[in-house]
Amino acid sequence: MTAFVDVANMARWIQRDGVENIITRMAEYLEKDFARWESYDKIPRVASHTPFGVIELMPTSDGQTYSFKYVNGHPSNPARGYQTVTAFGVLADVDNGYPTFLAEMTLLTALRTAATSAMVAKHLARPDSITMAMIGTGSQGEFQALGFRGLLGINTLRVYDIDPKAMDKLERNLKPLGFQITVCDSVDEAVDGADIITTCTADKAQNTILHDAQVRPGVHLNAVGGDCPGKTELDPAILDRSTVFVEFPPQTRIEGEIQQKPDDFPMVEFWQVLTGAAPGRRSAEEITLFDSVGFAIADGSALKCLRDMTAGSDLQTEIDLIAEPEDPKDLFSLVTALSPVS
Ligand code: NAD
Repeated sequence: MTAFVDVANMARWIQRDGVENIITRMAEYLEKDFARWESYDKIPRVASHTPFGVIELMPTSDGQTYSFKYVNGHPSNPARGYQTVTAFGVLADVDNGYPTFLAEMTLLTALRTAATSAMVAKHLARPDSITMAMIGTGSQGEFQALGFRGLLGINTLRVYDIDPKAMDKLERNLKPLGFQITVCDSVDEAVDGADIITTCTADKAQNTILHDAQVRPGVHLNAVGGDCPGKTELDPAILDRSTVFVEFPPQTRIEGEIQQKPDDFPMVEFWQVLTGAAPGRRSAEEITLFDSVGFAIADGSALKCLRDMTAGSDLQTEIDLIAEPEDPKDLFSLVTALSPVS
C-alpha cells in the first residue's frame, strides 16, 4: 500500500497546522536539501508544450528517495474555469523502486513555491525589509504573502493585478489575517517604496511586467511567473543591474528570465549561498534577483515535509497502487483470483 494525501486532506492539513507554520517548517526541509544539492540527480524538467500551456515531469533522486511531480501551466485556464497550475507527486524508495507516498500537489506547489521564495529572500533581501510589492495576485498570491510573513516578518503589501477581482480576492483572504494591504492602480504605485518585489503573473508571452526604472537599488526581486520558454516578466535591463540567483542553471536558462540573455550570462546557484561557496547580498544597494522557475528538489522536500507532518494521522490514507502478488513472479495470480479468465 502507498500512503496518500488527497486534496481534502491536504486542505485539512493546511487548516490544522496553518500556512505560515507549514511554510516555516518546509523552509527547513528546503534549506537542508539545497545544502546537499550535489548529492542529487538533476535534469531540466521534461516539458511538453502546446500553444495553450505546458505539461511537465520533474524527477530527482538522492540515491535513497526518488521523487517526481506532474505539473501543468495553462495561463488561459482561469478564463475557462480551470486553474493555471495543477499537480500531483510521488516519493519512491530507491532500494526497491516502490512508490511510498502519493499526494495532490496543487496546494502543495503553492506552499513549496512560497516556501522557496521566502527561504531565498531570507538570505538575500535586506534585513530591514518591511514592505513587499506583489504584481499578480492569483492562486499563488496568498501563499507568497504568508511565506514572506512567516520567514521575514513582512506584513505590509502593495498589490497590483490587471484583474481587479483578483486583488479584491487577495484582500478579502489576507486582511482578516492582519496584513496591511494597499491595492494599487499601477505597477508604478505598487513598487513605490517596496523593499521586495514579487512578480507572479501568468501569460504565455514575453512580457515586461516590470521596467528597469521601476527597480530601485537595494530591492530584492522574487520573479516567480517567468517559468517557461517564451514566458518572461522582466525588462532584460533589470538583469544587467542585478545579481541573479537561480535554482538549476540548465533548467533556468531554458525557462527563467535569463532566457532573454546569452548562455554565458553570469548567475549564482542559490545552493552555494547556503553552503557558503558563494556570497549572497554584498551591499545594501545591490539588487538581488531570484529567477525562480521551480525545481524538482524543492518538490521532493515539500513531499517529505508533508509526509512527516501528517505521519500517524488520519490525513494520510492508503491507496492500492502497486500490484503485489504473493509470488512476485506470478502477476497473473491477481487476475485468476477474481474470476475464471478465458
Ligand atoms: P493565476 O492565473 O492564478 O494568477 C496570475 C495572475 O496574474 C492573474 O490574477 C492575472 O490577472 C495576473 N496578471 C496577468 N498578467 C498581468 C499583468 N500584465 N500585470 C499584472 N497582473 C497580471 O496563476 P498562479 O497560479 O498564481 O501562477 C502565477 C504564475 O506563477 C504563473 O505564471 C505560474 O506558471 C507561475 N508559477 C511559478 C512557480 C515557480 O516555482 N516559479 C510555481 C508556481 C507557479
